[in-house]
Amino acid sequence: MPADAGRPPATPPVDPRPPEAVREILGRLRSAGFAAYLVGGSLRDALLGRGPTDWDVATSALPEQVRDLFPGSFYQNRFGTVLVRHAGTRSEVTTFRREYLYGDHRRPDHVEFTTSLDEDLARRDFTVNALAWSPEAPGAGGTVGPILHDPFGGRADLVAGIIRAVGDPAQRFEEDALRMLRAVRFAATLGFTIEPVTLGAIRANAGLAATLSGERLFGELRRMLAATRPSAALRPMAEAGLLGVALPEVAAQRGIPQDKVPGLDLWEHTLATVDAAPDRPAVRLAALLHDVGKPATLADGGFPGHDRAGAEMAARILRRLAVPRDQADAVVHLVRQHMFSYEPSWSGAAVRRFIRRVGAEVIDDLLDLRAADNAGSGLPAGAGRLPELRARVAAELAAGAPLRLADLAIDGDDLLRELGLAPGPEIGRLLGGLLEVVLNDPDANTAERLLAEARRSRGDAERDPVPGEPGR
Ligand code: ATP
Ligand code: MG
Repeated sequence: MPADAGRPPATPPVDPRPPEAVREILGRLRSAGFAAYLVGGSLRDALLGRGPTDWDVATSALPEQVRDLFPGSFYQNRFGTVLVRHAGTRSEVTTFRREYLYGDHRRPDHVEFTTSLDEDLARRDFTVNALAWSPEAPGAGGTVGPILHDPFGGRADLVAGIIRAVGDPAQRFEEDALRMLRAVRFAATLGFTIEPVTLGAIRANAGLAATLSGERLFGELRRMLAATRPSAALRPMAEAGLLGVALPEVAAQRGIPQDKVPGLDLWEHTLATVDAAPDRPAVRLAALLHDVGKPATLADGGFPGHDRAGAEMAARILRRLAVPRDQADAVVHLVRQHMFSYEPSWSGAAVRRFIRRVGAEVIDDLLDLRAADNAGSGLPAGAGRLPELRARVAAELAAGAPLRLADLAIDGDDLLRELGLAPGPEIGRLLGGLLEVVLNDPDANTAERLLAEARRSRGDAERDPVPGEPGR
C-alpha cells in the first residue's frame, strides 16, 4: 500500500472498482444464495483510490461452503478465513462473525459465526474499516445495487480524513489494546487525524498496551516505520503514552539533550533520522534504535560507548518484539557499526577492511543509516565525506577485491594437501592470516603466493612459538 497519499478526494467514489475477478467471487457467492460484500482495509483503500492488491470479502457462507464454491482455495487461519485465488487476484473470504470476551485486552477469546452483516461490521475497529460494498444486494423490490452499506458513518469519516472508533472507544481499546496502535498507524499512513474522543480514550488507556504480545506490537511498529514519514506515527505514539509502554527505551530519549541541532532533544534527532532513512525495514528499524544507548551512557555531555550499549539494548528489544533472528541480527549489527569515522587518508586496505568488518551485503544499509543520521543531525548531505567513502567502497566491490575467506585463491583443503597439515584450528588461523595479506594487497590472491605465504608464516610460527603454546 502506498503510504501517505494525503487527503482523500473531496468526494470519493462509492464504487471501489474491484477487478472483474473479485466481482466474479462476489457473484458466485451470491448466486449460491449467500450474502457477500467487499469490506475492511481493501475497501477503505480502494475508496481512497489506493488500489489494493489483496481484497477482503465478508460472506454469510461458512468456511467449508466457501471452499466448496472455490476449488483450490484454502484455509488461511484458524478463524476460518479462506484464501481464494482467482484470475490473478487474491481475496481473503471471511465468514461474518462476532467476537467475544476480551479477557486479556489482546484478542477475542473466541469467534462465533453469524449471518448478520451488521454484527460483523460492529466488531470492526474504526468507522473507515467498517464499510461494506456489493455490486448488487437484496432490496425492496428484488435486487438493487451497487450499495455501500455504512452503518457507522465511515464514508463521511473517509471524506473528512478521520479515524474514529466504532462504538465506545474506551471499551473497544479495553477489548483489544492493539487498536490504539492501529489508530495511530492508520492516521499516519493515511494522513488522517484521530477523532478527539477516540484520541482521549487512547491516552487514558495507553497502559493496556503492556498486555500486547511483542509479535503483535512489532506488526504495527513495522507498518508505522513503512510510512513515508514514520515520525507522523512515532510522535503521536509518544504523545499518547503508547511509546512509553511499547518501547520505553526509545521513549526515554525524550528530553535528553544533544548538541546537534540547537533546541532539539535526542528524541527529535531520532525522529528526524528515521524520516530521513530510506524505506527498507532494517534501515528504518536501525534508525529508530541507533541511539537507544545514549540515555544510559550520557557522561560529560557526550555518550561514550553508546553504539555498543545501544546494540545490546537493541538486541533485547528486538527479542522482546519476537523479531525473527536474522532480521534482528542485521539491525543490531547496524546499530553497533553506525559510529565509524572515515578519513580520506584511509588506504585501499583500510576501505577493504571496513567492508569486511561491516559485510559487503549490508554496507549500503550502513551508509544509508549514517546518511540519515547526518540528515537528522542537521548536517549537510556530504558530511563525514560519506559520498567519497561510498564511491571508494563501490570501486572496491566493482573491482572484485577479495574480502572474505571464500574469496581466497586457496582453501583449507589446499593447505592440508600442499603443506601436509593435519585438520585442526591451525588451518583457520592460517586462512585468517592469508585474508589479512590479500586485504592489504589484492594482487597477492594467487594460489602460488598464498601457499608461499602460508609456508613462510608456519616457519615463523615454528621459530617464534605463540607464548603459552608449546613449540614443535
Ligand atoms: P492493512 O491491511 O492495511 O493493515 P486493514 O484495515 O486491512 O489494514 P487488517 O489487519 O488486514 O487491516 O484487517 C482487516 C479488517 O479487519 C480491518 O479493516 C478491520 O475491519 C478488521 N480488523 C482487523 N484488526 C482488527 C482489530 N484488532 N479489531 C477490530 N477489527 C479489526
Ligand atoms: Mg488488510
